[in-house]
Amino acid sequence: MSDHKESGNFSELLELALRLGASGARVVSSSDICIQDELAGLCAKPQCENFGASANCPPHVSGPDGFRELLKVYDQAVVFKLEAPSPVLFSPVERLEVFGLLQEIAAGLELAAVKMGQTRSKAFAGNCCKVLFCNDHPRCRVLHEGGKCRNPLSARPSMSGFGINVSKLMESAGWSLKKAGEKSGETSVGTLCGLVLLG
Ligand code: SF4
Repeated sequence: MSDHKESGNFSELLELALRLGASGARVVSSSDICIQDELAGLCAKPQCENFGASANCPPHVSGPDGFRELLKVYDQAVVFKLEAPSPVLFSPVERLEVFGLLQEIAAGLELAAVKMGQTRSKAFAGNCCKVLFCNDHPRCRVLHEGGKCRNPLSARPSMSGFGINVSKLMESAGWSLKKAGEKSGETSVGTLCGLVLLG
């Protein structure tokens, strides 16, 4: 588990995460972030239905190698979690609302960190922004029109495309990942996680 002695410097960010809807937020060392090529490989095989759908998903992101390179210039990060009841996470509509909130919290923390002077801060979340925020549009504007993202205040890349091991990330923050269960008797709550590199 990380030494959280630096979190006092970012207490405003941690409080903001809770106000935005997170159920917990911690500062971790960037060296605690574990990247595994095979996890990013799962986006392509078996291929996710959102593979290639947005500029924030593989194969349009820099992947594990790009993330390893990026990490070299960051020392710390905020990890936050969001918990939702299993039936919500298995519902076709409500689960998208929860992932939308996850992305919005990540983006909100990134923008707040930038305002605090951490101008290179970058946020990562989960799921695909095309489905979450651009479902009414046929295609991603960045990929297909060479334009700007329609949702710069909310859409962020998914951690999956970079091979970030979310379970280990949660452990670094002192939490355990709860996987939502579909059948009665399985876990009644599932945990989602987001990450903001601070720098
Ligand atoms: S335009 Fe839409 S699909 Fe493309 S990156 Fe932005 S939110 Fe995602």
